[in-house]
Amino acid sequence: MINQLNIIVLLKQVPDIEKVKFDFKTGRIDRSSAEAVINPFDLNALEAAVEIKEKVGARITAISMGPKTAEASLRDAIARGADNAILLTDKRFAGADTLATSYTLACAIRKVGSYDLVICGEKTIDGDTAQVGPEVAEFLGVPHVAYVEEIREVKRDRILVKSKMGRNYYIIELKFPGLITVTKDVNTPRLPSLKDKIRSRKAEITVWNADSFSDLADERYFGAAGSPTTVAKVYVPKAERRKGKIFRGDLERAAKEIATVLREAHVIR
Ligand SMILES: Cc1cc2nc3c(=O)[nH]c(=O)nc-3n(C[C@H](O)[C@H](O)[C@H](O)COP(=O)(O)OP(=O)(O)OC[C@H]3O[C@@H](n4cnc5c(N)ncnc54)[C@H](O)[C@@H]3O)c2cc1C
Repeated sequence: MINQLNIIVLLKQVPDIEKVKFDFKTGRIDRSSAEAVINPFDLNALEAAVEIKEKVGARITAISMGPKTAEASLRDAIARGADNAILLTDKRFAGADTLATSYTLACAIRKVGSYDLVICGEKTIDGDTAQVGPEVAEFLGVPHVAYVEEIREVKRDRILVKSKMGRNYYIIELKFPGLITVTKDVNTPRLPSLKDKIRSRKAEITVWNADSFSDLADERYFGAAGSPTTVAKVYVPKAERRKGKIFRGDLERAAKEIATVLREAHVIR
């Protein structure tokens, strides 16, 4: 058994993607239109932390930035093995793009203080950018490994992981403090027991707003005001169907017409 590690798991509450509606005018998801759940990849991140805790001992802190309703996801995280949970909620955090989200999460991690490993999901099912994990690592100034699909070994000061990038695998040793993002292949998240669910209802969720870490952050970089990107337009691309044309009548004329069409399409000269 090594000295207890401090692990931070970042998890985002997302709408049930099967049911959610989209507001095409504003370019935003109508989050009130569907039930909210923990982003599925973040369940893998939490499970990875719990497995490390079981093997070598760890204290797990779950952090989520979102509306007050995200507290339910943090309770779920406690039921699944997190030791404590922090909700970052403030109107000043709203409308954040990935950069502002990552900045805010990194400030909160700094406020937590000492940590060995930050674990994120590889991406979310609503934003789907996979940018937040690596951006948080950059803001913290720590190394990261993305797309981890196997955790091979955990030591007091480092972790050995297998990461999949495109067609290649990389075996990487990451020194702490560091950050990893995990894929769905890293493990199978377990279900919380009824006892754990009941226990989590009474658990205390720490709530931080923008003033909670004003000593560590510049408020201008929070939320919509701190977001250099905006959604210009959202649309469903029209699926191009296979086109067909039947040439009827005189064979010779039809053959000439076909040749003309093929020439115009640069298929033949
Ligand atoms: C150009 C652009 C403009 C946008 N504009 C808006 C906007 O105006 N309004 C708006 O509401 N949204 C907007 N979004 C969406 C918003 O940026 C994302 O909801 C948010 O930044 C997280 O990005 P993501 O969902 O792609 O996370 P990813 O990068 O796919 O997530 C990777 C991992 O990071 C962690 N993570 C991500 N988000 C959180 C979180 N909130 N709390 C804790 N952990 C987290 C999780 O571990 C997750 O698995 C915009 C996105 C883009 C790309």
